Parts: sequence; C-alpha cells; structure tokens
Amino acid sequence: MAGKAEQLEILRHSTAHVMAQAVKELYPGVKLAIGPPTDDGFYYDFDYEGTFSEEDLPRIEEKMREIVARDLPFVKEEMSKEEAIKFFEQLGETYKVEILREIPDEKVTIYRQGDFVDLCRGPHLPSTGHIKAFKLLSVAGAYWRGDERNRMLQRIYGTAFPTEEELEQYLHRLEEAKKRDHRRLGKELEIFSTHEEVGPGLIIWHHRGAMIRWLLEEFERREHLKRGYQFVVGPHILKADLWKRSGHYDYYREHMYFTEVEGQEYALKPMNCLAHIMVYKSRQRSYRDLPLRFFELGTVHRHERSGVLHGLLRVREFTQDDAHIFCRPDQLHDEIRDILKFVQEAMELFGFNFEAELSTRPEKSIGTDEDWERATTALREVLEQEGFSYEINEGEGAFYGPKIDIKLEDALGRKWQCATIQCDFSLPERFDLGYIGPDGSRHRPVMIHRVILGALERFIGVLIEHYGGAFPLWLAPEQVRVMSITDRHIPYGEDVCKRLEGAGIRVQGDFRNEKLGYKIRQAQLEKVPYMLIVGDKEVQEGTVSVRSREEGDLGPMALEAFIERILPHCGIPSLGGGD
Ligand SMILES: [Zn+2]
Ligand SMILES: [Zn+2]
Repeated sequence: MAGKAEQLEILRHSTAHVMAQAVKELYPGVKLAIGPPTDDGFYYDFDYEGTFSEEDLPRIEEKMREIVARDLPFVKEEMSKEEAIKFFEQLGETYKVEILREIPDEKVTIYRQGDFVDLCRGPHLPSTGHIKAFKLLSVAGAYWRGDERNRMLQRIYGTAFPTEEELEQYLHRLEEAKKRDHRRLGKELEIFSTHEEVGPGLIIWHHRGAMIRWLLEEFERREHLKRGYQFVVGPHILKADLWKRSGHYDYYREHMYFTEVEGQEYALKPMNCLAHIMVYKSRQRSYRDLPLRFFELGTVHRHERSGVLHGLLRVREFTQDDAHIFCRPDQLHDEIRDILKFVQEAMELFGFNFEAELSTRPEKSIGTDEDWERATTALREVLEQEGFSYEINEGEGAFYGPKIDIKLEDALGRKWQCATIQCDFSLPERFDLGYIGPDGSRHRPVMIHRVILGALERFIGVLIEHYGGAFPLWLAPEQVRVMSITDRHIPYGEDVCKRLEGAGIRVQGDFRNEKLGYKIRQAQLEKVPYMLIVGDKEVQEGTVSVRSREEGDLGPMALEAFIERILPHCGIPSLGGGD
C-alpha cells in the first residue's frame, strides 16, 4: 500500500494525464512534452502554436470534468523502445520520441485512458472517475528542458486533492501566499528591484532593503564574533588554476563566470572556500591552534539558467554567511553541536519551525571508511542529543562528505532550504592541508563548510513572505513615523523626530499637507510598526498619540514613556549561545 504522500502523487499525476487529454481534445495539434507531479500539484508542458491564457483554464477544467465523468480506466501497455518510438512518431509526438531515445531501457510502458495515450512509468489511479477535487491554477512559458536555447513551451499548472475541503484550504493558503509574494511586496515597500537592463538575477537593493540587509549583516557579525569565528575576506576573482586544483573547474564549470587578465584565466568565485583555505595554509598549524573558524559575508556569482531565476529566491549574485571550520577529527562533534545550536537559536528568533535532513555516503565517494563513519556518526549523534527531528537521505551526501541540511517552515507552512553543515574530506586532501599533532607528525584536518541563514538574498525573500512585509521592530527599516495634523505642528514634530533619532530609533517624519487619515493609511500599507501623531493637544502637553501596527490606537503618551516602551525591542537582538 502506498503511503499518503505517494497516493497524493499518484492522484496528481493521474490528473495531469486528464488535463493533457482535455487539452488535446480542445486544441488539436498540441504536442505533449512532460507532465510530472510537484510538491503542490502538477503541471504539463505543451507545444502549442497559440498562447494559453488564464481565461482558457475554466474551459479546460470543464473538459476535464467530462473526462472524469467518463470514468475511463488507465490501461498499461508494455512495448519495446523501438516500437514506442515508431508509435509516437506516427502520432507526431516528437518530444516523446526525443525522451524515448534517451531512455536506456529496452522495454517501456505507455498508458491509455480512452483515446489518450502517454509515455509513462505509472502508477496511476484505476480510472479517471477516482479524481474528486482539482483546480487549474496558472499558465507560464517554459523552455523545453529548461534551456532558453530550446523552444518555448506552454506550461499549465494545476493541483488535485482527495477532497474538496483540502482543495479549498490549499487555495486559501495560495491566496495568502500571493498577497505576500516577495516580488510584489519588494516593489511596493521599496526593498529591491531587478531590471532587464541590468541583467537577470541581479538584485538592486533600495533604501529599505539595504537597511534590512545591513541589520542582518550586523546581527551575523556579532553572533559570529562571540562564537569564536575570525573574520577573513577573499578576492572576487581567483586564478583558474586554483579552481582546477579544487575540482570546481571540472565539476562546477558551467555555473562559473570566467575572465582573462594579462593572458591568465580567472574565475569569479562561486564559493568562498578557497580564500579561506589559503589563510589556513599560510602558516604551519599545530593541534593546539585548532579549531580555526573563518567567517566571511562572501558574495558569490553562480550562473543559473534565466528560466529558473525567481525574485530574491534564485539569483545569480548573492552573499552567504559563509564559514569554514578546520578542526581535528576529535573536535568534529563539538563543532557540529555548536553550529546546530546556532541554527536553532537563529530560527527561533525569526519564528521559523525547521527540520533537518542528514545525507549519508553515496556510492561514489572519496575518503576512508573511518572518515565517513566518524563524520556521519558525529552529525547523527548531535542531531539526536539536541533533540532535532531529522530524516536520513541514504546515499545522498556529496562525494566528498556527509551533510546536514536544515529546512525551515514559514508562516504559511512552506519549506525552504537554508542552513547547511557539510563535512569535506576532499579539499584538505587536494590542498594538502595539515597540522602537527601531539605525536609530532603531520595530520589532515577536517574541513566543515557551513552557512546559518544561507544566501542573504534568499533569506530576505523568505522573511518578506514569512512576515508578509511586517518586519519585527528590530528589522523594520523605519521603526516610527511621526505625522503632523497641520503645518503648525511641524516644529514640534521635527523635535520629536530628533529626540527619537537621538535614542537610536529609525524615524521618518510625514509633514506633508495631506489629510491625517491618508497619512495613516499609507504608513499602514508600508507596515511601519509605530505611528506618532502630533496635534494641538500633543504640542501643549508635550506628548505623542501612539498607533501601533499590531495593537491599533494606544492613546497619548509622554514621548519619554514611548521611547522607554519600545527601546528594548529596537536594537539588534543577541542570541543566547556563544559563551
Ligand atoms: Zn503517467
Ligand atoms: Zn565552502
């Protein structure tokens, strides 16, 4: 019996077949590409001369309901690959033919429901009548195989659930997610923008975004300092020869940007590891020097296909809170424990739930059995001792070492990859890193690559959606807005601003000649945590009328009392760990 997740996948995948059938019945001449289930539903890519729009979806849904009502059985048929190629060639399904040519198997399966036929491994529901609740959601362009040199196909997204109720709940969450879309909020709140003229996947931070970023960076620096990390800074371009030695040139080349200087090939760094290795190598290290923890807010460039770029979540230039720890094998356990505690405290600060995944040794790997055993055991033991719930991805580790990935869960229950802790046996080998042990001979250190928040771009993107743009006081780019009722209250309002600034609070005055209701609405839309209104009464009594984003009208207050009330929550917080 299939598990719940698999059953859902079978349901959605079967619904994708029904959608494809509906599209073929409604739009003769459409060619099929691929139609897999996804985490939230399914899609199907079609090659179609025209363009599908959202207005076409109700019509396709209507046809799908018809097909569901026909209760057509999904019938499996096996044939040889050669037969299948001929079969799909006759149907004019050139994409299926292309897929078939790349399948190594001699036998393949096709599935029919009614007149519709698709190349597929299955499994499916017994018949179309088992589909109860589905909805088509959107259309988008998608390049064949995600490659912009290929033909642009039309992708239709949909979802399906076992019951109408579950579908309704999902659609509600989706509505909420749309409202919180970081690309929309990012523009409205002047956090960031991207421009075709600048280049895809390259972020421009506007004043509010740059402030959020500065606050997060400052938070990072303080937390790393008190945990015994040393700050280092490496260059943005390094000679290609060094990337050859590290293996990136062979294994990561298509994600890298290259340039030439004085006849020498250089690469823009896609990772920060190599400069940190050079610092380690710069002098003789003894066992007493370890662990060494090098931290850098390192900006990296990675070439991602333009088709996969997405707001702040998938970009071509980003800054990681990256560190490399060089330690003795016997120190691995404590180092990993400290990193996981750091992650835990950081996630709690931002209000994220999270879970861990432990990826173990793959078939092809370097390093000794002893190395792998020790590192994997350390990772597992710490997860257990610290009470983390975790899943094991057997054989999913990198070839150079096991790792822990942390997936955080935002306010809408969506999961995001952020922190990773990666053991590495390869780079210490390739760069011949060593330390002198108590026995006087030379030993290899273990190298740990780790990020806590990950890419700041991505993390801020997730934060925008998690908070719906309403950042907590310490992260709010503008903490307080002071508003005058008429022009004669401006001097007092300016004085209030000065005193708040003096207390280290980020404040803006809105002294425009506009109606108060308009100013308040705007401040609310801009998610400013506190609004202070000054009119005749406030000027006379030396007070301010306070409105809170969360609590509404708080009434008049002496300015000093207001400052005292919010000041403890205004500064960059400090996490418990690190002593
Ligand atoms: Zn299928
Ligand atoms: Zn690294």
